[in-house]
Amino acid sequence: MIITNQKPFETILKELEDAKSVFLVGCGDCATLCETGGTDQVAEMAEKLKAEGKLITGMIVPDVGCHELDVKKEFRVHKDELEKADALLVMSCGAGCQAARSATDKPIMPSNDTLFLGNIMRYGQFEEKCRLCGDCLLDVTGAICPVARCHKGILNGPCGGTNEGKCEVDPEKDCAWTLIYQQLEKEGKLDKMREYRPPKNWNAVLKPGRHAIERKKGGEANE
Ligand code: SF4
Ligand code: SF4
Repeated sequence: MIITNQKPFETILKELEDAKSVFLVGCGDCATLCETGGTDQVAEMAEKLKAEGKLITGMIVPDVGCHELDVKKEFRVHKDELEKADALLVMSCGAGCQAARSATDKPIMPSNDTLFLGNIMRYGQFEEKCRLCGDCLLDVTGAICPVARCHKGILNGPCGGTNEGKCEVDPEKDCAWTLIYQQLEKEGKLDKMREYRPPKNWNAVLKPGRHAIERKKGGEANE
């Protein structure tokens, strides 16, 4: 899921300084789990903005904030409330903000910073385990990602600074290459540690750029 963090309220107020009236948009998926844009946080934000003299014209929490078709549909349902708003405050990730962008010409302000793709470790605790590099090598690393989980992102580790299984850069964190070694040992594939892994093809994640996939039913995905 996409991990977000709410900006300080003063920052949000500054973003909305030109808006007397605001329409709030949350997200029923990732931002709900991050507690940055679920029903409760949207209602709480509405109260805080009202206390600052803003008129709240309406609020919605689409099931999935980045689902552009659904967001457009919801915006049509709430057309009048949207019309009355000087600006929208979108309480989801950057993708959700831009789903809203595709559905209205009104000014849109983000309430959140979008941080990373995170695994849910337990409620409210997230960890980055994949950096979306576009050229996955988990097949040769025991399904433990050195790109995201080794502080140096080295592909032929460990680096030599590993100390009792912890990372030299962050002693609180397990050394990714120790984990990879231990996993390959369990699989009887320690020989893979000696295989040279060539530099990554970072072309696969050239940014900025347009990354889009069209997956046809029962067919191939076209990029
Ligand atoms: S190698 Fe790591 S960062 Fe790249 S796609 Fe695989 S898990 Fe994600
Ligand atoms: S100690 Fe391990 S995780 Fe840390 S930088 Fe070195 S190889 Fe990577």
